[in-house]
Amino acid sequence: MYLGEYAWPDLAEYFEQESLALVPVGSTEQHGPHLPEATDALIAEGFAREAARRTGYLCTPTISIGVSPHHRQFHGTMWADAPAFRDYVESVTRNLTQHGIDRVVYVNAHGGNVEHLREVGRRLRDDRELYAIEWMWDESITERIEAAFESPGPHGGPKETSLVWHLDEELVHPDRLEEARDGGLTAVDEGFGRVHGARTFYDSIDNTDNGVLGDQTDASPEVGAELFEAACGHLVDLAEWLADRPIEALLPREHVSTRE
Ligand SMILES: [Zn+2]
Repeated sequence: MYLGEYAWPDLAEYFEQESLALVPVGSTEQHGPHLPEATDALIAEGFAREAARRTGYLCTPTISIGVSPHHRQFHGTMWADAPAFRDYVESVTRNLTQHGIDRVVYVNAHGGNVEHLREVGRRLRDDRELYAIEWMWDESITERIEAAFESPGPHGGPKETSLVWHLDEELVHPDRLEEARDGGLTAVDEGFGRVHGARTFYDSIDNTDNGVLGDQTDASPEVGAELFEAACGHLVDLAEWLADRPIEALLPREHVSTRE
């Protein structure tokens, strides 16, 4: 169920019986010449809404502007500074406890949000407010992604292209896939952007002229459908696992005691 579509009296039964919410978190940032700025928000919302549909759990509206200052040189990228983003997400999540929510999955599709969502989850758990964890769709199916593409690329590559193509084909420019590949950076290896172990770059434009990495010509809506199905299965299982856990098992443990 999607929270934004319900009138408040019709939500009573859910909050009486369940205490879990799926919160989609994306970004609004350049994704190359072939994908829309809403790519990460579309993907996050696609997963959260579908998992909510399959399980009956609640999906909240999408947090669609994330931490993306590293794409600032490209037209249209919007972002919140990291501390403002953390405070906002923390506040929105904390407020869900008013309705009895005590566990949350951040259904995330933007790498730049990961560490901040983890930090917010830690704060809320340390305060014993609720238990919130970050789930990044591609992290749940890394082997499948490696098998599907030679150069999946961490940003705007064939994995994100395939996903958006599956979710909303009108928003992809298939005639620009070669341009995307040739104008960006295809090969991303282990030592990428590092000098003597230090990560030297800050902005995506430091590595790629058109903002993307990977070989986009390997993308297809069919592969997108397969990846979506596989990752969505993990999200459904995660939500059910989380819903089944007693809250004491999710909150911080007591300090060790050495006294008898
Ligand atoms: Zn993305």
